[in-house]
Amino acid sequence: MYTLGIDIGSTSSKAVILRDGTELIVQKVVSLGTGTVGPSQVLSAVFEESGLSPDQIGYTVSTGYGRMNCAQADEQVSELSCHAKGIHFLLPDAQTVIDIGGQDAKALKISESGQLIAFQMNDKCAAGTGRFLDVMARVLNVDISELGELSQRSKKPVSISNTCTVFAESEVISQLSSNVPIEDIAAGIHNSVAKRVAGMALRLGRPTAPAMSGGVARNAGVVRAMERELGCPVLVHPLCQSAGALGAAILAWEKLKKEKVN
Ligand code: ADP
Repeated sequence: MYTLGIDIGSTSSKAVILRDGTELIVQKVVSLGTGTVGPSQVLSAVFEESGLSPDQIGYTVSTGYGRMNCAQADEQVSELSCHAKGIHFLLPDAQTVIDIGGQDAKALKISESGQLIAFQMNDKCAAGTGRFLDVMARVLNVDISELGELSQRSKKPVSISNTCTVFAESEVISQLSSNVPIEDIAAGIHNSVAKRVAGMALRLGRPTAPAMSGGVARNAGVVRAMERELGCPVLVHPLCQSAGALGAAILAWEKLKKEKVN
């Protein structure tokens, strides 16, 4: 039996199809979020690649900021539970999940079976989110996918003193005009995000076996900076950005199984 998970985020849409809750058939990410053609594009992409048709899907769960705007979904579930489930599937040893997306950051404490136990969240301020990094990448004239590698060449990271994204942007422009090496600015930007998010995660206690999920986990510069802030290795899976959609597909499977039993 096939289940579908779709994560409609602020900046991207992700979809995953699973067979019997365990076998990953296909996963796709489209860099367009809620209110755009992103959700329909990502659904077309997973059906095209898998060769499945929508009527072969037994149950669909949507998650993410735009989860209510998904006509195909049988049920909507919050990102918190979906990221917990998805990361537990990808990285069973993880006990803390740090999810940094396009417009918020969350830290989750999860049980040995992948259930959410506690969480902390920042959705009030762009600092410490993907949006902050996207704005800075634009100022540096670098593609977001290259920012991580660039920062790793830094020998002397700058300190970004402003936490507000707008002021930090002016600070970066001023550093650029003072000919500060771009890799040192990139490293300073990553340190600023990691410091802010690690501070939030530490409110749940010192993390054991932390993992990162969400699109920002694809940025190796932020991951290394997070490791320095937390003082321990951080687990990252190549499918980190699809963890929410994967968790949604697993929850859809659990729902189907329950319906079969009743
Ligand atoms: P949302 O679910 O809110 O749409 P995501 O979890 O998809 O957010 O994360 C989006 C963020 O991920 C972007 O704001 C960007 O900073 C980052 N990101 C996306 N793709 C990449 C990439 N290839 N390399 C590094 N960072 C990326």
